[in-house]
Amino acid sequence: MNTAACQSTRRDGSACKATPTASGHCFAHDSALQERTANGRRSGGFNKSNARRAAKTLPADMRALAAQLMQGISECHTGALDPKRLSAMGTAAGAVVRIHEVAETEQRIQALEQAASVRKGWGS
Ligand SMILES: [Zn+2]
Repeated sequence: MNTAACQSTRRDGSACKATPTASGHCFAHDSALQERTANGRRSGGFNKSNARRAAKTLPADMRALAAQLMQGISECHTGALDPKRLSAMGTAAGAVVRIHEVAETEQRIQALEQAASVRKGWGS
């Protein structure tokens, strides 16, 4: 048995050539397998990790974006995704985050202005 390379196959059907962990699969394929088997057992350490808890505090759209980026990183690692595409995804994701920040700041300012005008009686 060849233990020098990951035993999983890439999305395109070719053999994964990444360095395997003790499981015989590379880190990306190993975590993919672990996530699949963890679906039935919620007590797994992965779901309780700080990263998972932090991800749950993100707004839903940011959570989807983060998940997509994580998947992209994993796919890039296994060779299924061109590193240039992952780089473009990172750039686009940065822009989306900035738009989100501007929108959130605008919302907070509006809420503060509204609260201030109600207190001073400008609203009536
Ligand atoms: Zn692999």
